[in-house]
Amino acid sequence: ATPARKTLRIGLIPADGIGREVIPAARRALEALGSDLPKLEFHNLLAGFDLFTRTGTALPRETVEVLKNGCDAALFGAVSSPSRKVAGYSSPIVALRKELDLYANIRPVASVAPDPKGKPAVDLIVVRENTECLYVKQETLTQTESGKEARATRLITEYASRRIGKMAFELALARPRKQVTIIHKSNVLSVTDGLFRETVRAVPQLPEVAGRFDSVGIAEQIVDSAVYRLFREPEIYDVMVAPNLYGDILSDAAAALVGSLGLVPSVNAGDSFVMGEPVHGSAPDIEGKGIANPLAAIRSAALMLRHLRYEDAADRVDTAVNDVIREGHTLTRDLGGKSSTDEVVEAVLRRL
Ligand code: ATP
Ligand code: MG
Repeated sequence: ATPARKTLRIGLIPADGIGREVIPAARRALEALGSDLPKLEFHNLLAGFDLFTRTGTALPRETVEVLKNGCDAALFGAVSSPSRKVAGYSSPIVALRKELDLYANIRPVASVAPDPKGKPAVDLIVVRENTECLYVKQETLTQTESGKEARATRLITEYASRRIGKMAFELALARPRKQVTIIHKSNVLSVTDGLFRETVRAVPQLPEVAGRFDSVGIAEQIVDSAVYRLFREPEIYDVMVAPNLYGDILSDAAAALVGSLGLVPSVNAGDSFVMGEPVHGSAPDIEGKGIANPLAAIRSAALMLRHLRYEDAADRVDTAVNDVIREGHTLTRDLGGKSSTDEVVEAVLRRL
């Protein structure tokens, strides 16, 4: 069911590099959806490394305030990562995830079958916990008699494991196969990964869930063998849920299964906000040439809509994108074509 809203307020944060080319493309796709969506209200917002070099701020307070108080969702482009550590700079996307409590990074990876009726070989979602694990960045370096010693803290909580678990089950419930695979290494890290595994496993029995996930199957896999099987038989996976570090690696590995980075979307999601973000970076090598593939950003917009429960609108966008890819006449260079960003956008808009 589509929620009743009078307007849908979307923050646009192109940030750096080709983010400034693909976010306007995604906006055009959203605008083409017409009566499938409420009235759209866009807010153009600043962030990024370029902004930092010009103004000393990578994420202005105003951007955060408008997102928190004036937006229902957002689309983020890309940030360029400085090649060395820059004093005073920290990534605005990391800060935004924290500010908006976007605790899940969700990355669907699906191959587009050449035959429209053929079953895609890969059709999975990686659900990555986004707030803890080794990424709490508590590292120490000490000098010992035998040399330097570096340590890192790995934090796994029941709270964070439970909410990412619920997110994974919720996503699985909406899919035909309804299967959650828990990724862990609890044969070695029995305390931390053990807690993650047990907590996610217990989600269907939670009183507040009230049997809602009874139809969802649960499997589990040790992370190393999960990577192996992901490459050998990706079709076995439906929804993979993992702690932060394993999820980070798995989601990039899964993206590699379907070709260009220019195709893979993601969202950062919390309980009250969702932010779409193409998986690719700022791509400085092709910036400003008008040849960036806009499809990852357009698919990220569709994924954002899906999380807002505008399923029909999201389906329309995904179908249009898949048709353009399948047809193969209007593709950017990363997919072996010769078309410009704008030509690909036009091809998608025609199908919408
Ligand atoms: P960053 O530091 O921002 O991640 P990067 O140099 O790692 O920048 P990526 O954006 O991660 O660049 O891209 C890696 C490669 O994939 C680059 O050669 C880039 O041109 C290409 N690429 C990434 N996104 C796209 C896209 N949307 N369309 C076409 N090519 C892309
Ligand atoms: Mg990169």
